[in-house]
Amino acid sequence: MSLPYARALVTGVTGQDGALLAAHLLAAGVEVVGTHRPGRAPDPWRLRELGIAAHPALRLAALDATDAAACAACIAAARPQALFHLAGQSRVAAAFADPQGSLAANGLSAVNLLEALRAEAAEAHFVLACSAEIFGEPARAPQDEATPAAPRTPYGLSKLVAHAAVGAWRASYGLRASSAILFNHESELRDAAFVTRKLSRGAARIALGLEEAVTLGHLDARRDFGYAPDHVAAMAAMAARAHGDDYVLATGVAASVRDFATAAFAAAGIALDWRGAGADEVGVERGSGRVRVRVDPALLRPVDAPLQVGDAAKARRELGFAPSLDLAGLARRMVEADLARERAA
Ligand code: NDP
Repeated sequence: MSLPYARALVTGVTGQDGALLAAHLLAAGVEVVGTHRPGRAPDPWRLRELGIAAHPALRLAALDATDAAACAACIAAARPQALFHLAGQSRVAAAFADPQGSLAANGLSAVNLLEALRAEAAEAHFVLACSAEIFGEPARAPQDEATPAAPRTPYGLSKLVAHAAVGAWRASYGLRASSAILFNHESELRDAAFVTRKLSRGAARIALGLEEAVTLGHLDARRDFGYAPDHVAAMAAMAARAHGDDYVLATGVAASVRDFATAAFAAAGIALDWRGAGADEVGVERGSGRVRVRVDPALLRPVDAPLQVGDAAKARRELGFAPSLDLAGLARRMVEADLARERAA
């Protein structure tokens, strides 16, 4: 695979998508400058697991993207031909606790980087990691690029600001700017605080006798669970296009958190039966009768969009986007990685 750009800037390179995208770009021969937050030592565990931490074409740099002057200096130094803005407050639940901080981390940062790119590297292609949370509780499913945005969470609002900025800079200045409207995407490198990784890690630890049960929020929340390497490859393809555009990246298949839990425990060799309802619902291990999944009402979000499922027809057509794993395959990959980590610990 070859890409028509030689240098890329990836914000948030220590995160799930940043690390996977850096690996994808490096494999294609692209030099990568990856940014992390200043004032804290970057934790490169994902870069290490991917075997790229010491790659000669990967350089790490500190960047506070809420600082406009710092963005300009970073872009002037890196001279990117593609800029992928992935850093930000990525947790919907955490953004309720700090809406202003999330708006700055996700919205203001995008404006700063677009402005800096316009001044310092106007030919470069800007790609935003946006989110399906911009749709709020849409009237119809699946959602596509034409679905009206009406966020219901501070996180969704912050991503809508960034998404709208991409459109505005494209329209006002002819900048090559694209927005990837990302539905959930998971991988072996997912943060341990996210529900899918909580489940893959929990199932692995329970199978190894290290833990008794996993506690979760909404079991009914239905999401479109994709595989992150597919999504980052599509973002790399976006930056290869002559013009910026908006693209939904999604599998088109909705599954509940309960479905993912069933698949994750099955991958760890544990069959679950579900009993009860609401906050009293439990996942019980068939055979032993031991409770393996419980609901903690404190983990329920103030609002939780009940169904997110995307139509990625445009990305399939124009970017060659193709989801490579179904729910069972995704859960298996994640559980196998967690079993290996726990056995090695
Ligand atoms: P991660 O949480 O794995 O990574 C987020 C990255 O952003 C990390 O590098 C992190 O740095 C950095 N970061 C965290 N908080 C802040 C902050 N307040 N200010 C600046 N930087 C911060 O997320 P993903 O890799 O999964 O997601 C990448 C992007 O895609 C994010 O913008 C996310 O919102 C978006 N997205 C992801 C979806 C998914 O399902 N994965 C779905 C929809 C959108 P550090 O390592 O220092 O913590």
